[in-house]
Amino acid sequence: MTKDATPATNAPFGTVFADFMATAAFEDGAWSEPRLHEIEHLSVHPGTHVLHYASSCFEGLKAHHGPGDTVGIFRLPAHVARMQRSATALQLPVPGEQMLTRMITDTVAANRDRVPAAPGSLYIRPTLFGTMVNIGAVGVPISRATLYILCSPVGDYFAGGLRPLRIAIETETPRTTPSFGDVKAGANYALALGAVLAAKGEDHADQVLFAPGGEVHETGASNFILISPDRVVTPRLTGHFLEGVTRDSVLTLARDLGYEVEERLVTIDEVLDWAKTDGNEAALAGTAAVLAPVGTLIYKGEDVQVGDGAVGHHTRRLRAALTDIQSGVAEDSHGWLTPIG
Ligand SMILES: *Cc1c(COP(=O)(O)O)cnc(C)c1O
Repeated sequence: MTKDATPATNAPFGTVFADFMATAAFEDGAWSEPRLHEIEHLSVHPGTHVLHYASSCFEGLKAHHGPGDTVGIFRLPAHVARMQRSATALQLPVPGEQMLTRMITDTVAANRDRVPAAPGSLYIRPTLFGTMVNIGAVGVPISRATLYILCSPVGDYFAGGLRPLRIAIETETPRTTPSFGDVKAGANYALALGAVLAAKGEDHADQVLFAPGGEVHETGASNFILISPDRVVTPRLTGHFLEGVTRDSVLTLARDLGYEVEERLVTIDEVLDWAKTDGNEAALAGTAAVLAPVGTLIYKGEDVQVGDGAVGHHTRRLRAALTDIQSGVAEDSHGWLTPIG
């Protein structure tokens, strides 16, 4: 199948790139015809808008190898729609659904021989940012922008493969501002970085669970889900955190498998209580993380083991239900894969 799957998927997530990208520019009120080309450096003026005012958003989705030589993109329309919402929230020119979809499928087709075999995949990173050269442009429409699609063959997001993660609970600093929680904006990551680095240092944590005022939102780059032998519980969508496509996929598959699914207010008190029961599990859901088990929560400097602290049976089961669809082992009963011809 893929000659170079091993080197790419062993490298740290996101550090290896496939050769081809697609680019379109917004100028004079219209998008240019997208161009498919080999990766090239960008040359920007130091006064470029995004460098000063963070006018940038992105998406993250994956193409997977299926049976035979098939390749499919997972939940492409959902990611296209979210990128349009992010662009709208940031007052950036909104790429049309057809153009954006076509740019993504064309880029994946061009990089087809760089899609690693499962469990690897081709991570796709559409990126949009403001390019007018004007450092006074703080209260005017973003009249010029660039959109490109970059691809990276990937393996596991968290180094060390499927292992129980350590997640530090943060109840004071929110991840972002309330109005931008559900926008996939680069600036959100800058806002969260201080808390994430502090937790990695002090608590040897892999990530932070942001729960401002005790209300659970999500971690730095994935949604948070509680799992028991018969129930799946996760915070309801409030606009304060990202509406993850993986979250939605896992909830859908959980319902298919007969779990009772609850989307509601989840507090840190409940999470700490949940952790005490043997057989209870917790996991992070996101395109990059897939469904990653949480073994330990760190609250006020103390370790709190989740269930038995190991990779839980139900987390494995739900993760397999998801990855089996992505790799074509199971039937794509929800029509989530867009085949690449
Ligand atoms: C991208 C992202 C997620 C996961 O969303 P998916 O659509 O499942 O990939 C969750 N939280 C944040 C902050 C994100 O940026």
